[in-house]
Amino acid sequence: MTFPRQTKALWAQSWGTGFRQLFKLPSVCQICHAWPSQPVCAACVERFAQPSLRCPTCALSLGAKKSHAACLNCSGQENPLDACVAAVSYAFPWSECIARFKFQADPSLAKALAELMRHAPWVEPALDAANLVVAMPLSPIRLRERGFNQAFELARHLSPHKVDAHALLRSGDSAHQVGASREDRLAQVRDTFWVAPEKIAKVRGQRVVLIDDVMTTGASVYEAARALRAAGAAHITGVVLARTEVRQTHFADARQ
Ligand SMILES: [Zn+2]
Ligand SMILES: [Zn+2]
Repeated sequence: MTFPRQTKALWAQSWGTGFRQLFKLPSVCQICHAWPSQPVCAACVERFAQPSLRCPTCALSLGAKKSHAACLNCSGQENPLDACVAAVSYAFPWSECIARFKFQADPSLAKALAELMRHAPWVEPALDAANLVVAMPLSPIRLRERGFNQAFELARHLSPHKVDAHALLRSGDSAHQVGASREDRLAQVRDTFWVAPEKIAKVRGQRVVLIDDVMTTGASVYEAARALRAAGAAHITGVVLARTEVRQTHFADARQ
């Protein structure tokens, strides 16, 4: 029996990952390819994941600004999130690394990226203070296609005892967001999220952490936060792995 070369390559790749997991063999750094190494080596974290000052409610990098005040987009605006933190900007090398995590479903990479999030400023205190941790859900169609929810994999590593995979639900699937304006995206995600009726008691009056892998315009995260707020959440912190900075919002949405 013959298989297309691509299928063989995928088999070899997933077999390699499974083999390394099984026998706890060292792997290569996904960024600099150093070997033996953790999936993301300490030198790459040091070089590419330096914390930057970010807006406290939308996590946009404040660049050279010295104060931790809200960015121009957020000041004077009602934000569905009480706080938002991001570990890194959605740019090289994290954009490639996240793509590999999503499309190759490498479990060791999930753990490494979750650790990167945990060590970002304010993440650990937010997780400690939370009563409930939820991940941005994928639509049932996307979940079937991909076989796993990358945001849930991060949440599971970050807070295994507080995460609830069934509290926040998502219907349908928003249209392809490449090139869509901010207004179009907001319209696409409206009424997409809700809290499962049997979980409302678990959300009401509680502090919730909402986890996502990539925050682009924030439209999806904000809409999910509105659903949590409608169910009575007292305080909501968004914790994202990577934040697309403003100048990049016309690029492909990382959720695609
Ligand atoms: Zn490295
Ligand atoms: Zn902001």
